Amino acid sequence: MKFTGSIYRPPLEADTPLLQVTSGCAHNKCTFCTMYKNDKFSVEKLEQIESDVLELKSYYRNLTRIFLVNGDAFVLSANKLKSISDILIKHFPMIETISMYASISNIRNKSDEDLLMLREARINDLWVGVESGYEPALIHMNKGHNLAEAYRELERLNVAGISHLHGLMIGVAGSGLGIENARATAELLNKTKPGLIWICSTGIFEGSELSKEVERGYFTPATEIEMLEEEIELINKLDLQDVMFYSNHPTNTAKFYGRMPIHNHEMINVINKKIEDLKTGLAVPQKKRLSL
Ligand code: SF4
Repeated sequence: MKFTGSIYRPPLEADTPLLQVTSGCAHNKCTFCTMYKNDKFSVEKLEQIESDVLELKSYYRNLTRIFLVNGDAFVLSANKLKSISDILIKHFPMIETISMYASISNIRNKSDEDLLMLREARINDLWVGVESGYEPALIHMNKGHNLAEAYRELERLNVAGISHLHGLMIGVAGSGLGIENARATAELLNKTKPGLIWICSTGIFEGSELSKEVERGYFTPATEIEMLEEEIELINKLDLQDVMFYSNHPTNTAKFYGRMPIHNHEMINVINKKIEDLKTGLAVPQKKRLSL
């Protein structure tokens, strides 16, 4: 199998075979992100992709799910994605779900007809870096889309029948703005109906634009307690039925997951316990995450 540069996939896809279709991230400009900083964006050739699929065939008799890497694989044109799907279906006719990371701007660049064709081509469960529903945070983090586009593009996925799994960042608005961020984000999710929610905490990673802003005093990171309070507000304001909420990313102070809304109370109890432990010194703050 050919893999180039840094490879990331959602932890929940740990058991899903990976297939490289791009390298790096076409956007590569989010202020907090260093994931693909050293990787040049490139698109994999169909011949190489087919050769990798044939290699996969030597490992798996059947495949029902596959995850296309890398950072924003949905940036590929609808026709290229359709060709990749054709190769996969040719060699693995049982395949049901072709999943990948997608940004809001990747969706924006496709027509309604494209999206319907891609759903037909078994592309589903897009992991979308929604991050926030709070417009100033989206702009500040240079996500490449604004809030109106997030509402519109996620709704277009709904119309096409493509499930979208939302990655969110608590603390992304900075200190003092967590509650506003949680409320605006809940509003976006209540309207756009994610298939799943996956939370990480805003880290200040060395080499990121955000770390330079922190050094210069332009951005004040939220404290861990602020982020936990923000997470409680988010859970309280979300009005979703039968949606899994995962807060088990390594950056998160309180690690848990549950199904909304039946586990809301339990999840909030876990967070409150962690807040209490931090306040009384029973829990150690994740200094590493917050240090420059
Ligand atoms: S957060 Fe996602 S879209 Fe933004 S630079 Fe990193 S990989 Fe690319």
